[in-house]
Amino acid sequence: DDLTPLIEAHVRDIPDHPRPGVVFKDITPLLAAPEAFSAVVEGLTAGHGPGTVDAVVGLEARGFILGAPVALRLGAGFVPIRKAGKLPARTLGESYDLEYGSATVEMHADAIAPGSRVLIVDDVLATGGTGRAAVRLVQRAGGTVVGFSVLMELAFLSGRDKLSDVKLHALTTV
Ligand code: IMP
Repeated sequence: DDLTPLIEAHVRDIPDHPRPGVVFKDITPLLAAPEAFSAVVEGLTAGHGPGTVDAVVGLEARGFILGAPVALRLGAGFVPIRKAGKLPARTLGESYDLEYGSATVEMHADAIAPGSRVLIVDDVLATGGTGRAAVRLVQRAGGTVVGFSVLMELAFLSGRDKLSDVKLHALTTV
């Protein structure tokens, strides 16, 4: 069902974070409300049933909090994609452009077995740069992205356009 009212009630706007002019969507009140947290985790499974997904990839950092319970619900493993330099073993990396400069995300090179069905989870889809990089990492490892679930899509940043080849599931769009 439509989780928009529940999400609107538990996600707050923080003006000028992390920079002046940015309104940051803070999901910590939702994490602190167990019924809302649970409904969102169920929503992020996006209709995938237990046993239909091999791995859930979570994007640092809030994608870890949301993705891990989704993985357990689906009977899937959990795989982190992290900012550069954090993962200890051999990694694959993808860089993408930011407004100023660039960013790199990494995944362990052996984290996704070739042929794996992978669901990617994050909290907010903004410009889609992080999401696109995550899709590339999974594909380079030989995985198939069966879905990309986010709690919230910021439509005015058009991130969806960068993910036109994946099944994007946003629990709410603002
Ligand atoms: P993108 O690469 O521009 O799509 O940014 C998405 C990444 O930045 C995600 O990993 C989000 O967690 C984070 N992000 C961007 N904007 C927000 C926000 O307003 N609230 C929480 N996270 C955000």
